[in-house]
Amino acid sequence: MTPPSPWRATVLTLFPEMFPGPLGVSLAGRALASGLWQLEARDIRASATDRHRSVDDTPAGGGPGMVLRADVLAAAIDATGIGPERPRLLMSPRGRPLTQTRVTELARGPGPLIVCGRFEGVDQRVIDGRGLEEVSIGDYVLSGGEIAALALIDACVRLLPGVMGKEASGTEESFSDGLLEYPQYTRPQLFEGVPIPAILTSGDHAKVAAWRRAESEALTAARRPDLWEKAANRGSGQKTPKNKTDG
Ligand code: SAM
Repeated sequence: MTPPSPWRATVLTLFPEMFPGPLGVSLAGRALASGLWQLEARDIRASATDRHRSVDDTPAGGGPGMVLRADVLAAAIDATGIGPERPRLLMSPRGRPLTQTRVTELARGPGPLIVCGRFEGVDQRVIDGRGLEEVSIGDYVLSGGEIAALALIDACVRLLPGVMGKEASGTEESFSDGLLEYPQYTRPQLFEGVPIPAILTSGDHAKVAAWRRAESEALTAARRPDLWEKAANRGSGQKTPKNKTDG
């Protein structure tokens, strides 16, 4: 029996030299080297057909900047041979904001095809015609989709089986139950006159868990009322955060 293929990210970009970039080091880099996942960065320009290998043109209707051409990008997508069995994403500030839930779904699948836009963006007809799902990594504008793609891939790769150690399973992290993570501490016991909260060194696991939960709830309510509202509606948090327990 052939073993299942590892999770794979296929990236379409005008700058393939930007990959693996930061994904080639640390956790993701070690996992890449050991074959736990695969990365393929393909040059969109290889699908250009004219003498100048042009990939962009001026926006129809006028306006500043250039637009990535539909014919070139569609040819680059088709040349991958990837069909609807793999998610086809377009990094885009207009897209649905990326969440840990979507990251988890993507990590459980075969791995996405990711198109990185440049210039003013991509001709709408290729987005519609190739069924690209627009994904944003936040309400700000980057100069290209590559850094957004690196962020998305990094978030997925750390969830792949065998990538994180057993201890760091990701189950207690920010967003894992709709809440932000509690504050973390480590040695030294006293830093600039501030001790580690006493509960954390008490050895009482139930009290530690209750303290962390209260801190998570208080942080989420204070910093992310949107998440707090959702958590409260799901029953993951109460309507008001539990009182923080003094360490
Ligand atoms: N004119 C576009 C707009 O206003 O929506 C912005 C284009 S931006 C300069 C160039 C490319 O960077 C986009 O096509 C997209 O691939 C990428 N990009 C920029 N900001 C992003 C974000 N917040 N999330 C994901 N991709 C982004």
